[in-house]
Amino acid sequence: MMQPVRTVNILGVPIHAVTTEETLALVDAYMQEPHLHQLATVNPEFVMTAQTDAAFRAVLHSADLCLPDGIGLLYAARWLHTPLPQRVPGSDLIYDLAERCARHGWRLFLLGAAPGVAAAAGTVLQARYPGLVIAGSYAGSPAPAENDAIVARINAVSADMLFVAYGAPNQDKWIARNRAALSTVRVAIGVGGALDFVTGKAIRAPKQVQMVHLEWLYRLLREPWRWRRMLALPRFVLKVVFSRSS
Ligand code: UDP
Repeated sequence: MMQPVRTVNILGVPIHAVTTEETLALVDAYMQEPHLHQLATVNPEFVMTAQTDAAFRAVLHSADLCLPDGIGLLYAARWLHTPLPQRVPGSDLIYDLAERCARHGWRLFLLGAAPGVAAAAGTVLQARYPGLVIAGSYAGSPAPAENDAIVARINAVSADMLFVAYGAPNQDKWIARNRAALSTVRVAIGVGGALDFVTGKAIRAPKQVQMVHLEWLYRLLREPWRWRRMLALPRFVLKVVFSRSS
């Protein structure tokens, strides 16, 4: 049995206080256990969605790891006197996970994103990590009507690891409701727009922008249609500021 990981509570959502290195060590251990482990890449938008979406909140509570993906969570944790060690961005982590899949022969399935993107991402990852086995890739959709056929597709190719790119909260709910039915998957992670970044369909902020913690602003400027969703950020800041008791 593994040691439980310390969590930090941010507005009712448990965030695991892990580094990337610790995350990868946990994944190695999860892969040895004969059931699915769910990872979520949490940012302030997730936390705000969880305020009103009880089903999503329950999914985050039952996930094995809620990774601190967004920088806003680190600021919030520090403000609440329960600091988190570092950001663990899903968009970086997927490369480390793919590398481990290649090294250990774990079969990776890529689900979601626009048609063709998952397959293209698989090709990019295979070029980068020779020997990587892409068990399958499929766009599909999180619609209930497609659910069982997608599960059957993933089971049929005995996938060991699964990336789901349906955006939050759908991707995380999708994994949670199929936990038991996905009979071969050991680690499943909701990756948001990460497959779009892998293929170059979307461009991540330059490293300098990431380093000064303004990746969210870069994304807002590049994808201005997200502004309504990103109103979650100032609402998050206000809620966290006023939630501190002392
Ligand atoms: N997406 C999808 N089906 C859906 C909704 C979204 O495949 O029904 C994909 C979309 O193409 C993108 C990914 O989900 O690749 C994540 O979308 P978004 O960037 O909105 O998510 P975030 O990274 O903000 O969680």
